[in-house]
Amino acid sequence: MKITTDYLVIGSGLAGLSFALKVADTGKVTIITKNSLEESNTTYAQGGIAAVLSSPDSFSQHIEDTKIAGAGLCDDKIVEKVISHAPGLIQNLKQWGTQFDTEKNGQYDLAKEGGHSAHRILHHKDNTGFEIQRALCNEIRNHKNITVLEHYFAVDLITQHHQGELVKRHQNDICCFGAYALDIQTNTIYTILSKATMLASGGAGQLYSTTTNPNIATGDGFAMVYRAKGLLDNMEFIQFHPTGLYNPKESPTFLISEAVRGFGGKLRNKYGEEFMCNYDERGNLAPRDIVARAIDSEMKTSGDEHLYLDCTHIDSKKLIEHFPNIHKKCMSIGIDITKEMIPVAPAAHYFCGGVKVDELGRTSINHLYAAGEVSCTGLHGANRLASNSLLEAIAFADFAADISKKEKDNNPIQESIPDWDDKGTSHPEEMVLITQSLKEVQQILNNYVGIVRSDVRLDRAFNRLWTIYLETEEMYRNTTLSPKLCELRNLILLGYIVIKSARARKKSIGLHYMVDYTG
Ligand SMILES: Cc1cc2nc3c(=O)[nH]c(=O)nc-3n(C[C@H](O)[C@H](O)[C@H](O)COP(=O)(O)OP(=O)(O)OC[C@H]3O[C@@H](n4cnc5c(N)ncnc54)[C@H](O)[C@@H]3O)c2cc1C
Repeated sequence: MKITTDYLVIGSGLAGLSFALKVADTGKVTIITKNSLEESNTTYAQGGIAAVLSSPDSFSQHIEDTKIAGAGLCDDKIVEKVISHAPGLIQNLKQWGTQFDTEKNGQYDLAKEGGHSAHRILHHKDNTGFEIQRALCNEIRNHKNITVLEHYFAVDLITQHHQGELVKRHQNDICCFGAYALDIQTNTIYTILSKATMLASGGAGQLYSTTTNPNIATGDGFAMVYRAKGLLDNMEFIQFHPTGLYNPKESPTFLISEAVRGFGGKLRNKYGEEFMCNYDERGNLAPRDIVARAIDSEMKTSGDEHLYLDCTHIDSKKLIEHFPNIHKKCMSIGIDITKEMIPVAPAAHYFCGGVKVDELGRTSINHLYAAGEVSCTGLHGANRLASNSLLEAIAFADFAADISKKEKDNNPIQESIPDWDDKGTSHPEEMVLITQSLKEVQQILNNYVGIVRSDVRLDRAFNRLWTIYLETEEMYRNTTLSPKLCELRNLILLGYIVIKSARARKKSIGLHYMVDYTG
């Protein structure tokens, strides 16, 4: 069954939605998203979006902070481009109806987060992402040129490969003609043909057993591009957020935003001692990789399963006013943050690497664009500066919108593309095998490819993953497609790509910390 469209957008977070709104005046847009329109990592972003809007802050300071966090691996031109575009992009968000908090004098109430040298984070209380998603979904649902297909799961990108041609990685004439997508509710696989395809499928925190990311974050986009022989980069750089709320029964892990430390929160051990100054002169506001490693080291030395974030010295009225959701969430599990310390532990949070794009958001596959967490733009280098990811998502959606409008008519719809062939497959007899294998994969990555790595740990991870890979590929060949099976397969492939990239970088840098190469 075929659907045709000018623009196909895979994913409905900030990157996908803002791209759709920017191109919709030039053609028919179809957004597919595997859950509801509202479900995305964007929805869970708390802290905010970084932008320099007035002096004494400056673009050069924001650029400098971004490059320091990136540990020398940022692309200077990209950092400058994104940061200088930020004010205009904030204006776009406002025009689409996003509300940011202001002070009594009408100026933005700007927060400060780890690694930033100035107050420059625009926010909406402590649920900025929810507010952005709300506003954009409202615009999208009312746009006559945009069709939203909820609960449609992108299975694979369509390239020449599907017309029987042999396609090689690094080949520069691979072309994207759309994607195969499973309508989860009717179990129908559609061939969606497009002139331009925007991949905005977000990150993959679900590769780990402890993560702040919702269930949708299973790295499908990375895997689809890898299978289509496109290029990925920097896949070893995975950010662990230092302060996930320690509540072992809950998944995903609830995040205690970095902004809480920017507001005066202090990390302490169980004896109430501050320890961050032993690791970095910036103390509690050191960049995330340093704080996460410090917590990891404290936990491993003491054998404790968590440490504490202390806000009890902060004015309680102001604390609740700034962080109503964190206060409410902690209260719901019996912790009053104005009187008690919050138990915290690191959790997988953000993929700095991804599908390699140029400065216009173009991937190595023609007519396939990528933006947001699925992409690797050069902004983050070896480590992302807090609140730069929402900025990156909207920036590259904007750049890709401009170029795809110009390029789309060079890629006419390919009516001859065959439909998905699932002859000879049957429904899985043992769903439980999929669930169990997924847990095993997440545990392997948590145990051996986490904050601190080594050659031996990476080898172990690879060997263990290999067995699950063989079992799952066998199951995939014989089984009717289901989102769970596709996600498992994508996560196994992603685990392999992360391990391969981590093995190749024989040095410790940014988020990639190898005990064998610390010199
Ligand atoms: C708890 C939390 C707090 C955060 N706080 C901040 C913050 O304060 N500031 C900041 O800058 N960043 C923050 N981040 C990171 C930031 O939210 C994300 O990097 C950003 O929102 C990614 O946007 P995106 O559009 O690329 O992807 P997402 O918002 O994740 O959207 C991806 C979309 O793709 C869909 N999708 C995925 N796979 C498929 C498929 N196979 N088929 C169809 N659809 C698919 C998903 O359903 C979803 O709609 C936070 C992240 C988390 C989890």
